[in-house]
Amino acid sequence: MKTVEELCKEYNVNLIDLRVYPEYASEVNMPIEHFANRSFCIGSKEIVVGLYEDDELRYVSALHELGHILGIIDKKEGWPYHHEVAAWKWAMDKVHEEKIKLVPKTIQWCNDQLLTYFKKEKNKDD
Ligand SMILES: [Zn+2]
Repeated sequence: MKTVEELCKEYNVNLIDLRVYPEYASEVNMPIEHFANRSFCIGSKEIVVGLYEDDELRYVSALHELGHILGIIDKKEGWPYHHEVAAWKWAMDKVHEEKIKLVPKTIQWCNDQLLTYFKKEKNKDD
């Protein structure tokens, strides 16, 4: 199984890992708690991976952010729910490719993440 670091290197994406570089939080004027169980992508060249108690959640979150960079073909179309789906699909294809067996709790967490976007989008139309 490739690590987050190896995948970022492979895809030429810069990795800001809060475990390695906690100073990042103060550089962007955010409390460190802001990065608990959270990751982001910045443009199409960089991902920020926050602090997770669970390594598997950290891993799939990082893959998801890479999916935002690598898995979305038409960036203009279907924002934001469809982008979320595409990013998770890329992440799950990678999980499959790397032959990683996720625990059910992780799969549930991924679903929950996606559902929050679905709800936001749905409320917008109401
Ligand atoms: Zn996302």
